[in-house]
Amino acid sequence: MAQIVWFKRDLRVQDHQPLAAAAEAGAVLALYIIEPDYWAQPDAAQRHWDFIRESLVELDGALRERGIGLMVRTGEATEVLAAVHAEHGIDTLYAHEETGNHWSYQRDEAVRAWCRDRGVVVREHPNFGVVRGLRDRDAWHARWEARMRESVLEPPQRIRPAAPPGALVAEGLPMVLGYEHRPCPERQRGGRQAGQGLLASFLMERGQGYRSAMSSPLTGEWACSRLSPHIAYGTLSLREIVQTHRRRWAEAKRGSGWPQSLQSLESRLHWHCHFIQKLEDQPDIEFRNLHRGYDGMREHEFDAGLFRAWAEAETGIPFVDACMRMLHQTGWLNFRMRAMLMAFAGYHLWLHWREPALHLARVFTDYEPGIHYSQSQMQTGTTGINAIRIYNPVKQSHDQDPDGAFLRRFLPQLAEVPAPWIHEPWRLPPEWQRHYGVRIGTDYPAPVIDHQAAAREARRRIKAHRAGNDMHAEADRIRQRHASRKRPAESRRSRGSSNPSQGELDL
Ligand SMILES: Cc1cc2nc3c(=O)[nH]c(=O)nc-3n(C[C@H](O)[C@H](O)[C@H](O)COP(=O)(O)OP(=O)(O)OC[C@H]3O[C@@H](n4cnc5c(N)ncnc54)[C@H](O)[C@@H]3O)c2cc1C
Repeated sequence: MAQIVWFKRDLRVQDHQPLAAAAEAGAVLALYIIEPDYWAQPDAAQRHWDFIRESLVELDGALRERGIGLMVRTGEATEVLAAVHAEHGIDTLYAHEETGNHWSYQRDEAVRAWCRDRGVVVREHPNFGVVRGLRDRDAWHARWEARMRESVLEPPQRIRPAAPPGALVAEGLPMVLGYEHRPCPERQRGGRQAGQGLLASFLMERGQGYRSAMSSPLTGEWACSRLSPHIAYGTLSLREIVQTHRRRWAEAKRGSGWPQSLQSLESRLHWHCHFIQKLEDQPDIEFRNLHRGYDGMREHEFDAGLFRAWAEAETGIPFVDACMRMLHQTGWLNFRMRAMLMAFAGYHLWLHWREPALHLARVFTDYEPGIHYSQSQMQTGTTGINAIRIYNPVKQSHDQDPDGAFLRRFLPQLAEVPAPWIHEPWRLPPEWQRHYGVRIGTDYPAPVIDHQAAAREARRRIKAHRAGNDMHAEADRIRQRHASRKRPAESRRSRGSSNPSQGELDL
C-alpha cells in the first residue's frame, strides 16, 4: 500500500509536513494532479501554470535526489486517485490544507468523501498560519506566532518509493489550455532556487530601502521582496521565510542593517495569513460583499465598456494604464498601485469588484484567493470596517513617478511627452500633441471619465447609500469575526498617518 503525498500549492520538499509524515509511514508516491476543470475557471491563467510548471520540474529533481520522482497525472482528482488506488493501493492521503477558491473547496470535499468511502485515511496539515475551524479571532495571533516558531522541517534524506520513478515530469508536462492566455514576457520564474535567491537578495541588499521604496512601482519592483508567487505556490514555506527574516532582523537590531524595513516585512508576512483567514472563515467573500448592506449598490450598473478599457489599459489616464500594462507584461505590481487599480475600478468607474478582481487574479502571477478577495473588497469599500480610500490617479502619478520614467516604459505612445504633461496628456493643446508625436483619442485614448468628477460622484453615492441603510450592526458583526485583535507595532504607530502606504495597515 502506498502513502500518497498530494502536492498542491506547496511545491517544495523542505518544511513539508505531509511529505515527512508519509516518508516515516512507508513507501511514498508523490502526486501532482493537473485538473483541467480548475484551469477552465475564470480566475485561472497561463502565467500561473507556467510558474507552477517550472516549480514542478525543480520539485521533481529534489524528490529524485531522495529516491522518488513526481507523478504528474491529468484529470479530475477523484478519478486520478481511483486510478492510482487501482494501480498501487492507497493507504493514506497526505496533503496541506488549502484555502483556495470555491472550486478547490468543493474538490477537496469530493476527495475527502471519496477517501471516506474507500477507507483511505486523509491527513491534512496546516500550510502556514491559517487556522481551520477557528472559533474566534481572539487568540489567533498567538497561534500564528506558535506556528511560525515551530522548527523548520528538514526534508527526508531518503524516501522509499511506492513505484519506480517515471521520466515524465521534466520532459512531458502537457500544456494546459488555461482560461487566460495573455503572454507575460517578464514573468517571475518559478522554482525554489529563484525563491531562495529573492529571499537572500532582499535580506542582504534589496530590502534596504523597502520601507520608503515600496510605494512606487518604479522603486518597488526592485526593493520589494517579490516573494509573493513563491509563497502562493509554496516553493518556500512561510515559516522558513519568517525565521530567516527574523535572524536577519536580529542582526539588524544589533546595528548591522536596516531594522525598520525588516519590521515592515514582518507585518506583511503576518497579514498574509490574516487575510487568508478571512476567506477560510467565510468562503462566500469570493462572490459576495463582506458587508451585505452594500449589496445592490453597484451590481446593476456594470458598464462593460469601462471595464474593458480598465482591463486593457485603455482608460486614457496614463498612470492607471501603465500600472495595468506592468501587470500584463510582468505579472507583478506593488501593493499601493494594486490598491489604486482596484479602487479606480470600484469608485471612479463604479464597477462592482467581482469582475475586476477576476481580471487581476488572471494577470497576477501570485494570485492567492484569500488575500485577493479580501483586498479587492477592502479597496472598493464593501467590507464595512475599513476606511474608504479613493486615490487620485494624477496625484499618484506625480508622487510616484515625477519624471514620467515609469509611464514611458509602459506607454511608448507617450515616449516624447515631457513631465509634467505626461501625467495628464489630454491637457496638451493639439499643436503640442503633434509636436510630441501623440494624438490624444487616436494614438492614445482620451480619458474615459473625468476622474475628479467621478471621485466626487462616488463619494456622494456611498454617502447616500449609507444614509438609506443601517450599516452599523453588520459592521460590528464583521469586526468581531474578521478584524485583527492585535495590531502590529508599525500599524499602531501609523494610524492617522497621511501616507496611505502606512495607513493601508488599517486591517
Ligand atoms: C486588490 C489587491 C489584490 C491583491 N492580491 C494579492 C494576491 O492575489 N496575492 C498576493 O500574494 N498578494 C496580493 N495582494 C497583496 C500585495 O499587494 C502583494 O502581496 C505584494 O504586492 C506582493 O509583492 P511582494 O512579494 O514583493 O510583497 P512584499 O511587500 O515584499 O511583502 C512580502 C509578502 O507579504 C505578504 N503581503 C504583502 N502585502 C500584503 C497585504 N497587503 N496583504 C496580505 N499579504 C501581504 C505577501 O505574501 C508578500 O509576498 C493584493 C493587494 C491588493 C490591493
